[in-house]
Amino acid sequence: MTTTPVNLFDFDHDGLRDYFVEQGEKPYRAKQLMQWVYQRNVRDFSQMSDMSVNLREKLAATATLELPQIDEDHLSSDGTCKWLFNLHDGNRIETVYIPEKGRGTLCVSSQVGCALDCSFCATGRQGFARNLSVSEIIGQLWLATNLLSSNPKTAHQRITNIVMMGMGEPLLNFKALIPSLRLMMDDRAYGLSKRRVTVSTSGVIPAMDKLTDEIDCSLAVSLHAPTDELRDELVPLNKKYNIEQLMDACWRYVQGERKKKVLFEYVMLDGVNDQPEHARQLARLLKSFPGKVNLIPFNPFETSGYRTSSKESMERFSQILIKAGVLTLKRTTRGEDIDAACGQLAGDITDKSRRYIRFTEPRFGEQFR
Ligand code: SAH
Ligand code: SF4
Repeated sequence: MTTTPVNLFDFDHDGLRDYFVEQGEKPYRAKQLMQWVYQRNVRDFSQMSDMSVNLREKLAATATLELPQIDEDHLSSDGTCKWLFNLHDGNRIETVYIPEKGRGTLCVSSQVGCALDCSFCATGRQGFARNLSVSEIIGQLWLATNLLSSNPKTAHQRITNIVMMGMGEPLLNFKALIPSLRLMMDDRAYGLSKRRVTVSTSGVIPAMDKLTDEIDCSLAVSLHAPTDELRDELVPLNKKYNIEQLMDACWRYVQGERKKKVLFEYVMLDGVNDQPEHARQLARLLKSFPGKVNLIPFNPFETSGYRTSSKESMERFSQILIKAGVLTLKRTTRGEDIDAACGQLAGDITDKSRRYIRFTEPRFGEQFR
């Protein structure tokens, strides 16, 4: 009888330990395997020289280390990299790397498409195909690390920060998100600190509470509007979890045992949410909250119907917030603060009938200007 090989990229440390124990092997094999895979970038079991030949052969026969396939590799003149990966079922996802002085941020996707349909988001326009698996999420980090180092132009670049701000709503893929975050933060794998791993959510409140129980990482909340009336229009999820409930959840997040801050993302849409009155309402909402606001210029895409706010509107908006005592970052050019950057990713979705839905992507690099 043949059984499907188990993809070991789908497990965090505890999952791997259980796997080895089930196979009659010692639990410490999990750590050995993780170090080979994530720290030495070795995927070939036969090279794992601190394991017995017997075990290596057994792994080769019963397990795999499968990853998405690289399809397109773009390097912009400013050093930003964008990769398109093919998944086994024909779907495609995007991952973006943004180098900055002293750090390099990888923007990772969590789903193929997104069901939440925010009115200004290219990913939302695609609709939702499916959740990514752990191997498809952590695989983006593994592949990006290797693609950067194998290109002489980028070999000096390192990934120091991860933001779950690619395609999809990470908190609606909780099951695969948690083991992936664990691998990012586990010293036996990538060992990134909690300040360097950020989950961005449009406000899936029950999952925000669950996240705090499961793992200690940074949180970004896509607010985009100071009133329910406007947020209902921009982020339809607001009809389910309104701003008051969202702010309560943010308070619970920062008032937990560990002292935390929330990064609020606010995409600037010309004439829609960028007026002085909105800034004053936002200031009232966030005044006493331990967080900061990141003003993101809207990245236009075909048929969005929105325009990017002018520099003057952004400046006026941020001045009102700053005067009211709200810590405010303005992202005018890529590289200023990229922790909330990847908003316009649109890979390809293959629906069940295998019909391709393809959306026009912004010219590469445009989303960071
Ligand atoms: N679903 C999660 C994470 C992915 S979106 C979330 O919504 O937070 C990552 C960020 O990009 C979010 O703040 C999102 O609102 C923003 N974004 C989406 N479309 C954008 C666009 N066209 N221009 C600028 N930012 C956008
Ligand atoms: Fe989904 Fe985030 Fe886009 Fe909204 S902004 S549709 S939650 S990916």
